[in-house]
Order: sequence, then structure tokens, then C-alpha cells
Amino acid sequence: MPRDSFNREINYLRISVIDNCNLRCVYCMPLQGLQFLPKPDLLTAEEIERVVRAALNVGFNKFRLTGGEPTLRADLLEIVERIAALPGVHDLALTTNALLLTKLARPLKNAGLKRINVHLDSLNPDTVARQMRWGSFERIWEGIIAAEEVGLVPIKLNSVVAAGYNEIDVVDLARLTLDRDWHVRFIELMPLGGGECATLSIKRYVSNIETRRRIEAALGPMREVEPYNPSDEARNYRLANARGVIGFISPVSEPYCSTCNRMRLTADGKFHLCLLNDDELDVRSALRAGHPDGGVGQVSRILLHAVEAKPTGHHLLEGRSTKDRSMYQLGG
Ligand code: SAM
Ligand code: SF4
Repeated sequence: MPRDSFNREINYLRISVIDNCNLRCVYCMPLQGLQFLPKPDLLTAEEIERVVRAALNVGFNKFRLTGGEPTLRADLLEIVERIAALPGVHDLALTTNALLLTKLARPLKNAGLKRINVHLDSLNPDTVARQMRWGSFERIWEGIIAAEEVGLVPIKLNSVVAAGYNEIDVVDLARLTLDRDWHVRFIELMPLGGGECATLSIKRYVSNIETRRRIEAALGPMREVEPYNPSDEARNYRLANARGVIGFISPVSEPYCSTCNRMRLTADGKFHLCLLNDDELDVRSALRAGHPDGGVGQVSRILLHAVEAKPTGHHLLEGRSTKDRSMYQLGG
């Protein structure tokens, strides 16, 4: 497994397959002024498979597909099938808003997907309409249930907490863990890419310390549970007699950079070294250069270089973040 210059083991590749989305969450995508990647710029399913082969060759074993909204990729099932069939892939997950899962859950499971993380900011349909804008709570909920029914488990819900939107709704979300074996995780807002979403992310920031206090005031104390793996970005807790787990992902109030194990691949074929920095290395040219091995050897070398060059951590507290990319272009 490759180690970076700070001795962190990096074995997890998050693959963004598209930058477009069927929602417009207020902190992620503005309603106007968006320009999406033209199709020829996106890595194809076969090119993504080659990058995964290159990553497996240097010791990566954990993969996640994200976006934008990955279920908008017409060839998503092919991408999943290709990756799942490769020896050495220990984990293959998907991050999605679940709007299309009633149709896709079963085929995704059959294609070899292991589990999903679903983004849902509230159980209140009005809040969902305000915060995630397009789409509806009912459709997202049906998608989650469809995923659970076909065994894409454990179900993990991700909720981004924003002041004046859903900060009160965290209690109902947390309550779900009392009788469901789900992970309900609360994420602190991060400003990415400048622009109106970054501004909103700063203005509406709610610390997870506050979110935890709010949940405990309503539902009683929770106790910390051991992480399932040391590089889990969430600190996990359980309410008394709860079946599920409540996780707090706190990049601002409690940065977890020292245990970061990930590398990101953008939909247009760049290794993005740290979510909250701009450093990138191009992969697409190596894939399209006509190498006899399809560029797999070259991409492995670029990936090792990317791992070596991974920044120690972010600079959010000094007011610095990525300027060139927004969250929908990186996949969280
Ligand atoms: N569309 C999919 C989804 O929403 O899960 C995958 C891509 S989305 C960019 C991945 C994650 O990023 C989601 O959980 C979303 O809530 C989170 N996210 C988006 N903008 C964010 C922001 N400004 N701060 C913190 N998390 C954010
Ligand atoms: Fe779309 Fe996900 Fe961004 Fe929401 S957070 S706008 S669902 S990419």
C-alpha cells in the first residue's frame, strides 16, 4: 500500500464520473452560470477501468463512485461491472442523492456494487425542497428503501447541516438510528470554489459540536463507538439502545487530515490530491497517448507521484480552500 511523505497509507480512490446533477443543493451548485464538461472530456468507462487497474497495481483496494450525480451517467452499470470484476477490489461504493435508485438499485447490486451513501439533508419535505431544491423527499426516501431491500448495506445517510435550513431537523434524522441499522452522518459545511455556494457555506456553517448538543438535548446522551476503520472520516456514536450509528464528519471543527487515506479522480481525468487544495496531476493524456498497455503503467507512476505530493492538510481556518473546483466537480 503506498504511503505519502507524512507516512499516511493511501489506498482509497474516489472517482467522480460526471459533474452534472439532477439537484441543486444550495451549498453545492448555483442555479445559474454552470458549465458542464463536454462528453469527450469525460473519462469513458473503459478509461476509468484502466485507472482502477493502475491504482490496484500500486496497492489501492477501496473505490467509490461519486459526482455530480453518478446515477446520471448512462453507462454507470458498465463502470460498476468493470471495476467490480477486477481482482483486488475490496470495496466498491457509490455516493448518490438516491433520486434514481428505485430503478437502479437492483441492477447496481447485480453489477457488483457493495453499498451506497445517500445524501439527504432532512426528513421534512419542505426543508428538502428549500435546501436541495429540485427533486423531492419522497423520491429520495423511496430510493433509500429500494437500496436497502436489495442489500446495498449498511445504508449511510449524509446530511450537510446549514443554519437557517436544516439545523433543527438533525434530531429527526438522528432518531432514525433508534430502530434502523443505518449510519446517519452529519457533515460540516466547507467553502469550495469561491462563488455563491462557498459564501453560503461560510455564512451558514454549523459546528458539529452544536449539532451533537442539539441531538443529545432531544434524544439523550450518546457514547462513542470504535471506528470500523482508523481512516473513517466520521467520529461515530450510538444513542442508548440504538441499532444504528450517528457519525460526525467535522473537517472544520475537528480536521481529520492526519488519517486521510484518499486520492480523488475528477471526471475529466485528473488526480486531485486533497479535497481542499487545488493541486492536480493529469491522467487523461497518459490514457489517450496510445501506449501499448493503455497507459496503465504511466498512470501508476503518476498516482505514486500524486500520493507523494499529497498536502499534509487543509487551510480552511486561515481562509484558504480550493479556488479552481467546486464540490460537484470533486465528489465530496
Ligand atoms: N450527488 C451525490 C451526493 O449528493 O451524495 C454525490 C456528489 S456530492 C458533491 C457528495 C457529498 O458532498 C454530498 O454528501 C454532499 O452533501 C456533500 N457536499 C456538497 N457540497 C458541500 C459543502 N459545501 N460542504 C460540505 N459538504 C458538501
Ligand atoms: Fe448534486 Fe450532490 Fe451537489 Fe446536491 S450535493 S447538488 S446532489 S452533486
